[in-house]
Amino acid sequence: MSSISENIVSVKKRIKYAAERSGRDWREIKIVAVTKTFPAEYIMEAYKYGIKDIGENRVQEAFSKYSVISKSVIWHLVGHLQTNKVKKALEIFDLIHSVDSIRLAEEINRRANSLNKVAEVLVEVNTTSEDSKFGITPKKTVEFVKEISQLSNIAVMGLMTIGVFSENPEDSRKYYVMLRELKERLEDYDLGNGKMKYLSMGMSNDFEVAVEEGANIVRIGTAIFGNREV
Ligand SMILES: *Cc1c(COP(=O)(O)O)cnc(C)c1O
Repeated sequence: MSSISENIVSVKKRIKYAAERSGRDWREIKIVAVTKTFPAEYIMEAYKYGIKDIGENRVQEAFSKYSVISKSVIWHLVGHLQTNKVKKALEIFDLIHSVDSIRLAEEINRRANSLNKVAEVLVEVNTTSEDSKFGITPKKTVEFVKEISQLSNIAVMGLMTIGVFSENPEDSRKYYVMLRELKERLEDYDLGNGKMKYLSMGMSNDFEVAVEEGANIVRIGTAIFGNREV
């Protein structure tokens, strides 16, 4: 499994170069290691090499790993969340990247309230306008953030998007620009409970482009852990 450590070194290096190219400080960029379909041991291995943020896309799968990981890692839900899984999700996850409806936001707010906590969330934006993807349309994002920012047990921490699946990472660039500009608009309007902090964008195939366009969370699976069997 030593290749996990080598992959982490290489991903970090590539993030560093991409940050330097765009005049950014690489230390402000968080790597979320996406461990979906991989066993809990992979989380421990990544942890040994300095990874503290773990991404999962299913609540149930995350729970089975969460219950055996003794280290204090930060858990990110990067996949779609159904309202009937919110209660469990809030027990596990520190940041939910995938808020994409008022109904979901209200349910998170209600459950967070009964746990006496404030749930940190990102709003997922469907920048590529693909039917197969979840997310708020770019057009409706400002209004959406305005609305859910009223909920007292939700803190809107930023925006998330998924680029295009393509051999060419440049194909995602315009969508990452779009997300950054949306975040800037929200900051101008002072929306999102004053905490518009994160831009979660960039995966194994295109994270350097995302970093160049301002990502401060990149979500990386295969470039660290290898190919998933599906
Ligand atoms: C699986 C997944 C990732 C990681 O994808 P890789 O291509 O393996 O890096 C990132 N974000 C989301 C939402 C995912 O579902």
